Amino acid sequence: MERLNGKIAIVTGASSGIGLETARLFAREGARLVVNARREAELDALVAEIEATGGEAVAVVGDASEADVAETLVRTAIERFGGLDIAFNNIGATGDPGPVFDVSIDAWHAVLDTNLTSAFLGAKYQIPAMLERGGGSIVFTSTFVGHTVGFPGMVAYAASKAGLVGLTQVLASEFGARNIRVNAILPGGTDTPMGRATANTPEARAFIEGLHALKRMAKPEEIARSVLHLASDEASFTTGTAVLVDGGVSITRT
Ligand code: NAP
Repeated sequence: MERLNGKIAIVTGASSGIGLETARLFAREGARLVVNARREAELDALVAEIEATGGEAVAVVGDASEADVAETLVRTAIERFGGLDIAFNNIGATGDPGPVFDVSIDAWHAVLDTNLTSAFLGAKYQIPAMLERGGGSIVFTSTFVGHTVGFPGMVAYAASKAGLVGLTQVLASEFGARNIRVNAILPGGTDTPMGRATANTPEARAFIEGLHALKRMAKPEEIARSVLHLASDEASFTTGTAVLVDGGVSITRT
């Protein structure tokens, strides 16, 4: 049985990595999709792939930390498919790693805009559309960094991603009575272009793998399956949570 049959979903950061695999999985599970990222060719290829297998998807190209793009995503879901049930607000950027005194104010704002302001704007426009449908499910992509593990050199990334957990809790309590669930997913090291930018030498990769209890990085499909669970009615009593899907990086000391 398709777990998202009849559902309409937004997936941001769908041109690569976790967002791409989640969009593919959502489509296989019957959702009609509005997909977003800044790279048009990658999004067009995803839409063509989904349509080739009988699914429905439309691309909205642009920076999801800008209000007009966040609004267009929702408007497109309504105009093209008739409403909005699910939103996976997934875009992220680490910024350049380094000590706090080397982080410029512009670099700080850039990371907060991408990771946190985009999520606020997503919720701002998505929730009214979900209320029209009588409920919905929002998932934000946070991380273990800044939640269970202090990772040196990532002040803006950690602060912005920890902010998503606060946003999740407030929105979940604000809209739970109106049948909107809001959760954050916290991946461990994941084998995507972002993950590989950190695990960029055999030694760095071995080090990162060794931090996890499972002694490997996740495949993006493994994160996508947990997003599907949170987004779908299978997680009907789960809201306001920060769900670690982190291969045990948070509990490993050896
Ligand atoms: P990725 O493969 O680099 O994908 C990042 C995606 O975000 C791309 O599709 C990128 O597309 C999009 N994006 C970035 N900024 C954007 C913007 N301003 N507007 C629209 N799209 C934007 O990395 P990933 O690992 O899948 O990352 C997905 C999420 O997981 C991020 O939030 C990341 O922080 C989080 N995460 C990753 C890891 C890991 O180890 N990989 C661990 C924990 C959490 P365009 O470049 O085409 O815009």
